[in-house]
Amino acid sequence: MKSWISDIESCGVNIDWCQRLDELLPVTESFPVQLRGIVDSLRNGKHLTVEQGILLWNYPDLNVVASLATTSRNARFDNQVFFNSNLHVNQTNICTLACKFCAFRRGPKAKDAYALSINEFIERIRPYENIIDEVHTVGGLHPEWDVSFYESLFSNVKKEFPHIHIKSLSAVEVKHIAEVSGISPRALLSRLQNSGLDSLPGGGAEILDDAVRDIICHGKESSDEYISIHRDAHSIGMPTNCTMLFGTIESIEQRILHLCKLRELQDETSGFQCFVPYPYLPDNSRLPEAQLASGNEVLRMIAVSRLMLDNIPHIKAYRMNIGDYMSELALHHGADDFDGTVGHEEIMHEAGSKSVVGYSKSQLTKFIVEAKGLPVQRNSNYTKFRRFEDDDYDAGIRLPVSTTVGD
Ligand code: SF4
Repeated sequence: MKSWISDIESCGVNIDWCQRLDELLPVTESFPVQLRGIVDSLRNGKHLTVEQGILLWNYPDLNVVASLATTSRNARFDNQVFFNSNLHVNQTNICTLACKFCAFRRGPKAKDAYALSINEFIERIRPYENIIDEVHTVGGLHPEWDVSFYESLFSNVKKEFPHIHIKSLSAVEVKHIAEVSGISPRALLSRLQNSGLDSLPGGGAEILDDAVRDIICHGKESSDEYISIHRDAHSIGMPTNCTMLFGTIESIEQRILHLCKLRELQDETSGFQCFVPYPYLPDNSRLPEAQLASGNEVLRMIAVSRLMLDNIPHIKAYRMNIGDYMSELALHHGADDFDGTVGHEEIMHEAGSKSVVGYSKSQLTKFIVEAKGLPVQRNSNYTKFRRFEDDDYDAGIRLPVSTTVGD
């Protein structure tokens, strides 16, 4: 196996990307008049304003927006496209909340409710132990599981699989477990970090607007609490991702303001690694009033995110939600991360996703190569990289596949 190349300082980003962006952008006067202020801001490394974000969103020719986003992406990464080798395990689908967009949660008495024991959790990982670097684990808000349960879970997983990065707990889970345990979110995160928790995924952000949240996920953490929990994680050196669920009932302005809230925290902490936007999937959920996002909007969201979030290095095409083909297109709209091999996934599949799980690295990287990208395997924190090259293709091992929800 080839060794990792380490690049801790730059998170995989060309250090001089701002200067490169200035050089790669065509002269400002070649752009339509209404976009010239945006091009100048990009050239000069200035955050785009809310108004400029809305202007980009409404600009009729998506190709122009995509071209700006791709130029920004290329200034950072050239044609590198990152992916990792990972597995999703959901520890429980029992949840005390009932977010309207959620197809995954169950009440404790439901026939298909489950809560994995620590041994069962470990046995879910075991078939993949030699081919993954990361386990991504989120779940429902179990009414009884407190900090001690999760300390035990993470420390046992680390003992069994010391090489596997644990990315776990969305912000609402952090809030809930802290409340069940009678401690602050920051104290909870410190204890769990000592037990083996390496990073937080970005789930639970939905739309960072409390009026929208009150309708689509009543009782969930507030917008401020989401930001505060991620700030707490960053303050103890724990990196996190951030997300957006769009296509429910939010306005364009609310989407852009959401990006600005994430950008503001990133200015303060630099702790976000990757932004993951994904559209609402309607199967088995309870939100008939949802507007649903078109393919154009999915790609536009990737492009506008790349341009608005100039301080968050990576933008992910979340394959489990938007599928392989849309993810491939997203690489031409500013995305640089193609998600992972994903040996098993439940949450998006319960909501209607048909995305393939359990790709080998060869199978996954085919999409990247077709999109003219250079596949680069990364670790979870984007601090180690391995170029995936021609001689890797024959060695592709298909992951054990498990698509059965709740098995
Ligand atoms: S989204 Fe999370 S918190 Fe909301 S109902 Fe589903 S599992 Fe529970």
